[in-house]
Amino acid sequence: MTAHETTPDPLHEREVLVVGAGPVGLSAALALHTRGLRPVVLEAGEEGRPRPGSRALFVHKESLKTLEAVSPGLGHRIVADGMMWSTKRTFWHGREVYARTYPPAHGGGLPAATSLPQVSTERHLLAACLDAGVEIAWGEQVERVVTDERGATVTTTAGRSRRAAYVVGADGARSAVRSAVGIEMSGTRSANSFVVVDVEDDPAAPLPAERVFHYAHPAVDGRNVLLVPFAGGWRVDLQCRVDDDPDVFGGEEGVRDWLRAVMPAAYVERVTWVSTYQFLQVIADTFTDRHDRVLLIGEAAHLFAPFGARGMNSGIADAASAAGAIADALQADGRAAIARFAAERRTAAEYNRAAAGTALAHMEPRDPRMRLKLHAAALLAPRWQRAGAWLDAAPYGPRSGPPVATATKY
Ligand SMILES: Cc1cc2nc3c(=O)[nH]c(=O)nc-3n(C[C@H](O)[C@H](O)[C@H](O)COP(=O)(O)OP(=O)(O)OC[C@H]3O[C@@H](n4cnc5c(N)ncnc54)[C@H](O)[C@@H]3O)c2cc1C
Repeated sequence: MTAHETTPDPLHEREVLVVGAGPVGLSAALALHTRGLRPVVLEAGEEGRPRPGSRALFVHKESLKTLEAVSPGLGHRIVADGMMWSTKRTFWHGREVYARTYPPAHGGGLPAATSLPQVSTERHLLAACLDAGVEIAWGEQVERVVTDERGATVTTTAGRSRRAAYVVGADGARSAVRSAVGIEMSGTRSANSFVVVDVEDDPAAPLPAERVFHYAHPAVDGRNVLLVPFAGGWRVDLQCRVDDDPDVFGGEEGVRDWLRAVMPAAYVERVTWVSTYQFLQVIADTFTDRHDRVLLIGEAAHLFAPFGARGMNSGIADAASAAGAIADALQADGRAAIARFAAERRTAAEYNRAAAGTALAHMEPRDPRMRLKLHAAALLAPRWQRAGAWLDAAPYGPRSGPPVATATKY
């Protein structure tokens, strides 16, 4: 047996520290708590810190089920705060090429997905953590993490050190935990920029709750536009051309100009958040440190383009997997359990990145064969529904899940 499996370290204040109280860190804390552990969450921000934009608005059934399992009722509370569109439409140069309306859902089970701002999901996760008695230390920015055979020491910018058997790094894209243990990320960046805008609903002029994708919207000089409803508003994504200046399209005047071309005038005055991105498609080279004491999850471990909604949803799958691995490691399984987590979730991340990449390649078709396929599908769509269905579904990538032992869609 190794030191991992047997010798308790008297210095361990805790079995687990979770760094980051974003949606993924909070999900991990709940999953650890469900397994009888007592995690402490260290969060750099102060309690009630502002969180920007709608971001991960699409919570899939898979994630809802995971959250329901770690905190009964949580999945249903998130659904009660969300909404789901019943119609989706796709246009090609202003002409509708696909529309589908789903019958109303019956029964009280979890739906296929729900759409709400990430901040609302986080509010429910935080409330569930507090109800469960999870300790959250606000205003504790982790700066240093040093691991050894028996655990990890975490030090904050204020100089406070804590010791734990395991550290879950859920501190987002610029993860200090990941940097501290010397793990790099590798991958690519989208060629085009995207301007992402949140628009508040106008109760005086409500719009039909429909997800609409425009290939080459004629009112914005042939740029792609995606409109997605969520509880309380709309997310509108404009795909800039490679030679567009994203600062112009993402600036106050620029947003007003293109938004008034794709939404009713009243909505132009109701913009609540604007952001400009070139999407990263990167994965940490490994999901654990050399001593198997740090587990990276969520955006600390991977960043994907948002088409297909694999960011937060896969982070929730990471969180459940990390909690299981830590519980197993503390029982008897030691390094093997952590190594399994790291290998499995990295495989899943590679799959998720490829899936988001397929969506991105469809949106930014560099390959002439892909351009030809798109034009042919648009031509055939009025007579052959499958061509329209493909045009409708392709911007979100494949629907299948990664080839990993734990059955998961992410
Ligand atoms: C425009 C946009 C659209 C998106 N759309 C979708 C979507 O439709 N579907 C989807 O699934 N995902 C989407 N995402 C991705 C989603 O927002 C992220 O996957 C999600 O926020 C990641 O959660 P996280 O908990 O890993 O990281 P974060 O949400 O970044 O949380 C990290 C937390 O760690 C804290 N922290 C940071 N550093 C430290 C430190 N040193 N010490 C202590 N605490 C620290 C931060 O304050 C924060 O609270 C989108 C993202 C963007 C930007």
